[in-house]
Order: sequence, then C-alpha cells, then structure tokens
Amino acid sequence: MSASRSPVRQSSVRAHNLALVLQTVANSADRPSRAAVSAATGLTRATVSALVDDLIAGTLLTELDPAPRTGAGRPAAGLALAPDGPAGLGLEINVDYLAACVVDLTGAVRHRFVTRADQRLLPPCDSLAEVIRLAARAQQAATADGLVLAGAALAVPGLVAPGGLVRVAPNLGWQDVDAVTPLTAATGLPVTVDNEANLAALGELRADGAEPTFLYVSGEIGIGAGIVLDGELYRGGRGWSGEIGHVTVYPDGRPCRCGANGCLEQYAGQEAVAADPDLAAAALGIALSAVVNLLDLGVIVLGGGYAPEFERLRGGIEAELRRRVLTADLAPVSLRAAALGADAAMRGAADAVIRGVREDPAGWLATAQAV
Ligand SMILES: [Zn+2]
Repeated sequence: MSASRSPVRQSSVRAHNLALVLQTVANSADRPSRAAVSAATGLTRATVSALVDDLIAGTLLTELDPAPRTGAGRPAAGLALAPDGPAGLGLEINVDYLAACVVDLTGAVRHRFVTRADQRLLPPCDSLAEVIRLAARAQQAATADGLVLAGAALAVPGLVAPGGLVRVAPNLGWQDVDAVTPLTAATGLPVTVDNEANLAALGELRADGAEPTFLYVSGEIGIGAGIVLDGELYRGGRGWSGEIGHVTVYPDGRPCRCGANGCLEQYAGQEAVAADPDLAAAALGIALSAVVNLLDLGVIVLGGGYAPEFERLRGGIEAELRRRVLTADLAPVSLRAAALGADAAMRGAADAVIRGVREDPAGWLATAQAV
C-alpha cells in the first residue's frame, strides 16, 4: 500500500532516462559520443544506445556519421539536438506590436514575424485575431521546413493567472481575457500564456553567458520585470511579482493608469524615454536602486524597448545606483542590454515550449507516435 514500497514503474524509469540522455547531449559543449553519454550519466552503454536510438527515431537527436575508419579502433559518432524535429511557436501581443517566431530544438530562431500596430484602441478579440493570423504564417513556415510544432506560448504585458487567464493588462485595456481558448482552437496546439517580462527573463537566462541571478527589466509602453534567482524565475507568492512599472519614484508625481501617482511607468515607459531620456534614466535608477537594496541582485539586464536605448540610458541609471545602493562601493551592480534584444519575450515564449520537450522527451515521443 505504501507508495515508498511500490516498485518504480518501468515506464517512469525510461522517461527519466530519456530526459537524462537528452539533457546530457544538450548541455555538452561538443558532440558527445554514446560512450561519453554513458560515462556522464552512469547508465550502461547498452541502455544509452537503446535510448539514443529512440531519441533519434523521434527526431530529438541526430548523430554525426563516424569518420572513416583509420587504423585501430572505431571513432565515435557525435550526438547533437536535432534541428529538424519538434519546434516551439512563440507569440507576443504588446501595446504597439504583435510578434510570432519559430524556434527549433537547438534554440535557433527559424522564422520571425513582427507587425507594428497600436493595440490600445482595439478590443481584445481583434488583437487575438491578428496574432492568430501571424501564428498561421509561422505554422506554415514551420511545416515547410519539416518542423513539427510541439506547442505555443503567448507573452502578454499583464498579470496572468495560473490557468492562462489574463487578469489585467492595463496598457492593452484588457481585463479577464481568455486567450488560451481561441489560440488553441485556431492553432490546434497546446497553448500557454505568461507575462512578457517573465518569459523574456527566462529567454535571457538560456542565452549564452547568462548569469544565474539577475533582474530583467522590459521597457515597452509599460514596464515589467522578471526576477531570476539561482537559475529560477521568482514568480512571487501569488505569481504576480515583477510589477516594477508601478514602483513609486515620485510620490506626488504624475497620475498613473493604475490609480496611484508617480509610478515608474509614467517616467520611464517608452514614450517617456523618447520625450526625456535623462529623466527616464534617473527614474529607472531610483526604482532599480530600491530593488537592489532589497534583493541584492548584482546584475540588471535591460530588455524590450530599453535594449536599443541602452547606451542613452546607462549613465543616468548608473549614477543613481552609485548614489543609492548601499553596497555600491563594495560590489558595483553591473548593467547590460539584453542579449536577445527586443525579441526576448517571443524567444522566451518559444523556448518555454522547447524546454517542455527537453524535460519530457517521453511525452513528446508518445505524442509523435500518436500522430
Ligand atoms: Zn501605476
């Protein structure tokens, strides 16, 4: 009866080992051989070979042909993630643009579509209809490449409940909008919805050279942040962390859409940056200093619309950090532009789908067989 005494199911052992082998190949600096995977995982060579064969058959891994035999010994063939198997569809609805991208299992962006259009005056169903059109173009492009989309993820600038309901996206004028149902119906894919700054932070976390702990700040019409601690996104007690746009920088300042006064968003949103970059940088520096003093984050990444403005904003922000962060003299806070630039949110959305496949290859193989 006791769960601890029941035998481990063979299928769950296989699922675990498939994921272990796939992750080992994914995390290798160069193409590992089957023998190297066996050594790294502690699984026998026979077990690794059987799992690798399944992963190759399921288009999750490719194996480079061995070099021609020269002298004694057989050179090992190298394994790598397959670029022509499952892919993720990343979608984004933001205040002044819509975007879609297709990212393959290796993390390469295969297709990218962006439409510039102000969404503020449109009802949610019109924005959704437009992003569904972009999704259809991306799906066609993926199919033409022989890729199979494993799912879609939508990034929105708002608070998203665990099931994907957008509770509120103030700059879009959205309240309790269900984007999952229409997107699932239109694409035929499993769909998730998440906050754009959270997805962008996760995308940035997986970019080359990313630090394990940082604050990602996304500057669009609104401002959001993703808090990454020790390689994990910190979502907060109720899933709504990162609303740095509504941190107060001037208590008696400009009225904000949220009902308060002097929110960061009123001084450092994209339109404010264009109007007065010095004031925007100072306001950002004030808000970021508060975050650093509280959470001791040594790295701040500026993304979204801030990425192309980075050099204009940098000096003003750093001046406030030096002035206001208690530990600035002990260890300066490093500030950098997002490696993924303005595409971080849609890339992060597509990556979320890919990560699902990488973490559960057995689930993907079962789905692929069922199709
Ligand atoms: Zn506000």
